[in-house]
Amino acid sequence: MKADDVKLLDLLDFRPDEGVIAFHERRMLLYDADGMGILRRDLVDAVGRPTARGLLTRLGYANGYRDAHTLQELFRWDSPAEWYRAGPLFHGLEGKAAPIKIQLPPVAQGKPGDIEIRWKDCHETEQHLRHIGPATESVCWSLTGYMSGYFSACLGEEVYFIETECQAMGRPGCRIVGKTRARWGKTLAPYLDYFKASSTQDKLRELEQALRQHAQAVSRQKRETAHWKRLALRTQEPGVPIAKSPAMRDVLELAERVAGVDTTVLLTGESGTGKDLLARRIHVQSPRAQSGTFVAVNCGALPEPLLESELFGHVKGAFTGAASDKKGLFEEAHRGTLLLDEVGEAPMPIQIKLLRALQDREIRRVGANTPIKVDVRVLAATNKNLERAVARKEFRRDLYYRLNVIKIALPTLRDRRDDILPLARLFLEQFAKAQGKALRGITAEALNLLTAYPWPGNVRELENVMERAVVLATRDRITATELPPAVRAGRVEPTLGTFLEPRSLAELEKQAILAALERHRGSRTRTARELQISLHTLWRKLKAYQAASPKSSP
Ligand SMILES: [Zn+2]
Repeated sequence: MKADDVKLLDLLDFRPDEGVIAFHERRMLLYDADGMGILRRDLVDAVGRPTARGLLTRLGYANGYRDAHTLQELFRWDSPAEWYRAGPLFHGLEGKAAPIKIQLPPVAQGKPGDIEIRWKDCHETEQHLRHIGPATESVCWSLTGYMSGYFSACLGEEVYFIETECQAMGRPGCRIVGKTRARWGKTLAPYLDYFKASSTQDKLRELEQALRQHAQAVSRQKRETAHWKRLALRTQEPGVPIAKSPAMRDVLELAERVAGVDTTVLLTGESGTGKDLLARRIHVQSPRAQSGTFVAVNCGALPEPLLESELFGHVKGAFTGAASDKKGLFEEAHRGTLLLDEVGEAPMPIQIKLLRALQDREIRRVGANTPIKVDVRVLAATNKNLERAVARKEFRRDLYYRLNVIKIALPTLRDRRDDILPLARLFLEQFAKAQGKALRGITAEALNLLTAYPWPGNVRELENVMERAVVLATRDRITATELPPAVRAGRVEPTLGTFLEPRSLAELEKQAILAALERHRGSRTRTARELQISLHTLWRKLKAYQAASPKSSP
């Protein structure tokens, strides 16, 4: 039997009723070449080129090794050389490539020299070019593996093929050279990994080891950081807001700048955003911290007569129960700072008196006739939309202008997500200390819930949640169980909804890709690098998006 006499149809036993194509009782499968091409591309995307190459090389190796044995069992070959040649010819029979040259060394005592095989138009080249793109290195990974397996089986020792020329690199055809391991010597070293199944295992073990070392380093670093943080806390002045987020940093910077200027400041923002803390900070950073105190009053908490007396004081007998003269907060804050919290709730008569106090820099105690000069810097805070209140005539326009010389708008906690965890940790530390509990952290699950929650009550709500969690904590870390049901339910924040509301993975992927592309100003190379996908994959997806969009312009 000669290798050239082998016909595929003789070899295969088609049993359509059983759904089987048998090759000497080995079940064979017919695959669409493009299917293999797509698999190849996905493998490269998923595990990277070297690992993908290794997988395909070993797939080919296993096939080649088995084919060699099957062909040996099936035929009585005229000579061993015919059996050897049958392998490369089999490629042509199976539709894998067109063999153009098979050069076997003179077989002397079954010990061959170099084997050279050439082919062209192989399916791997075609699929690689179609699904991955032009190559700068050889791409006939499974065919090279196949020949290695085939000849290793034939010769009973390790034979390795290396592709020295490849059609995918613009050559007229592909050329592979096979030698025993010993004959290759050091040249083989960079290729050997592709043949070894264990190399993936080794890589995983290496990665595992590296991860473990990294984790140890991180926990060491965490202990250090915690140490420094505790030290910092002791020296930190009270009320310094945490500001890792750009939004909050901007606010602090503005506050610092206005601190030195003796002007009225209007602090706006949802309740719980820390307007009172910021007001205190402005005072602390201002020269008034040396000359006077910081006094705050909630204009929404008291009925009008009480509020008036609270703000401006009263004289003995001014009203029932006014048993003696009393200083008001304006006087208390003399040469210091007065915060009018919830100023939007101040009743109309009080608004008039506030305006006068601001304009004339003097106040009159309730029931008194003589005014008292006061030197007070007034800060006002509100969670109301004062402009709307002015339009509705619920708030005096002149007072609004007087207060709104400089406006600082505090961001909501959901607009400063970077600050959620640092704040949570700070509160944890403070409450744990206050309650005498040894708590060292927050579980990952709880951290995820904290960052996902929309925090309608802002920092104050977070503070309350952490206080409650510290009270409930039974272990050394805050777990999800200690968080309130609303936080655990992970309600998704509406303004982020465009990104987070439930939609298909494909849609999320598209948004991520387009956003990255915009970030990199259209640079596909940088976008692909950031997203860790191949340039080809990016290109393919963009093309698909363009095709799917009816209004797409070229
Ligand atoms: Zn090739």
